[in-house]
Amino acid sequence: MNPCQVCETATKNKCSNCNQVSYCSVQHQKQDWKAHKGQCYPFKIAQNELLGRHLVATRNIKPYEIVIKEAPLMRGPAQISAPVCMGCLNCIEPNDHITCDKCGWPLCGPECQALDEHRAECQLTQERGQKVNVQEFNGPHPLYTCVSAVRCLLIGETNPANAAKFKQLETLEQTRRGSNQWKADLASIGQFIPKFFRTQKFSEEEIMRAVGALQINGHEVPTSDPPHVAVFYTASFTENSCVPNLAKSFNKHGHCMLWAPREIKKNSHLSICYSDAVWGTADRQRHLMQTKLFKCSCERCLDVTELGTNYSALKCEDRKCPGLLLPIKADDWNGSWRCRECQKQVQRKYVDGILERASQDIQSMEKTAENGFKYLKHYEKWLPTQHYHLSEVKILQVQLIAKDQQELMILSDEHLQLKLKYAKELIELYETIAPCEVRMLGTLCFELHSAISENTRRIALQSNLSPREMLEESLLYVEKCVNYLQYESDIFVEGHILKQAKINRDALRMVIRIS
Ligand SMILES: [Zn+2]
Ligand SMILES: [Zn+2]
Ligand SMILES: [Zn+2]
Ligand SMILES: [Zn+2]
Ligand SMILES: [Zn+2]
Ligand SMILES: [Zn+2]
Repeated sequence: MNPCQVCETATKNKCSNCNQVSYCSVQHQKQDWKAHKGQCYPFKIAQNELLGRHLVATRNIKPYEIVIKEAPLMRGPAQISAPVCMGCLNCIEPNDHITCDKCGWPLCGPECQALDEHRAECQLTQERGQKVNVQEFNGPHPLYTCVSAVRCLLIGETNPANAAKFKQLETLEQTRRGSNQWKADLASIGQFIPKFFRTQKFSEEEIMRAVGALQINGHEVPTSDPPHVAVFYTASFTENSCVPNLAKSFNKHGHCMLWAPREIKKNSHLSICYSDAVWGTADRQRHLMQTKLFKCSCERCLDVTELGTNYSALKCEDRKCPGLLLPIKADDWNGSWRCRECQKQVQRKYVDGILERASQDIQSMEKTAENGFKYLKHYEKWLPTQHYHLSEVKILQVQLIAKDQQELMILSDEHLQLKLKYAKELIELYETIAPCEVRMLGTLCFELHSAISENTRRIALQSNLSPREMLEESLLYVEKCVNYLQYESDIFVEGHILKQAKINRDALRMVIRIS
């Protein structure tokens, strides 16, 4: 029994959405809703020494449920950015833009000048007493490096409601201090801001804390071109996992949605992937160490086989041995590797040599299906089937083998079978190691559904019957596609796939019903 939030009468009834506050009656729940609404989430913020603040589910979270939806505390240009509009953060057309009449920063037009977003640097530039003058529009511009930091520093003036929340964010200033990145930031931002804006308003430490807060908590938001950086409050408490339980999507306004592609059990920690779940373990760990300054010890990182997929393994140097090469120690990808079968050790040079060539060959490859097949045939000699380099090329292949419906209809049977095989294998692989990579999984499910439909059409032509099981399989994958892409905005290509997927789904349901 807990006291009612309103009258303190002891009661067993809890708010069913958050499972955290109690009400004696529906009336008292309704009465308190305005006050409670802002805190009514299916999770609570917990704290321990190892993780700091983190989020714990307070009830079972259903598949596809949105767990957090929030507007950013602040947003601004990426630290390395070509000139962008200070309102909407999209790139600037050299011959078609205006400059702010108060401060000189480029804007795409009057509607962007009216936006509140630009107030911080506008005000600081006016205090400087001289307008900025941006002339170079191609490539990164040094002036833009400090803009987001300026917006963080002035958040107390431009958005007091968000300022208190912003102060609570992790900056890792002590850990960052003295590192190469920190020194570079000190020169390009910490010392640059007082000098350029001719201001004593901020201490060096304050500026470097703002830079740290941005780097540790910033999300790349793809709703502008180029993507911008934004900081979200509640989302910043989700911990990292390379097999996370939350997917991240953005609506067209750049608001962040964290949602559950699968059920999350009560008391589970909520997690997102701070790195890229599609990368192999060595690359993810290097990236996390460089950008977020910690070593990940999630279940995928602790298991060299990456949940049995051998996503980062190499084939044994001895061609006759069926074994796989993996690091001897799970936490040391830079140490020696050994074959799990014949125990033979190989030098780092051997491992690095293969991986570097495999990576460079993808980058320099002209992306055609034919080149993809050649690549796969060549690197199958060194890499196991599910290796991340082979998988990357297979993802390309699924899209390149028949790029649209017309091409699919005239595709050879052999290539259609390969498209089916690759798509199926990839979905299985990524549902194991990267279940929250919803845009990729949704796209693969759509491709697989189309290939199954085409295969069904061919079989029906030959045998005069409509293979119901195949139609049902095609429906299964198009429904999966809709589930994975359901929160994608139509400003993204995945949003367009979603629209088509819904049309195909409804048509398939109809066909199955009458067949
Ligand atoms: Zn009450
Ligand atoms: Zn509640
Ligand atoms: Zn604009
Ligand atoms: Zn201005
Ligand atoms: Zn990890
Ligand atoms: Zn071996």
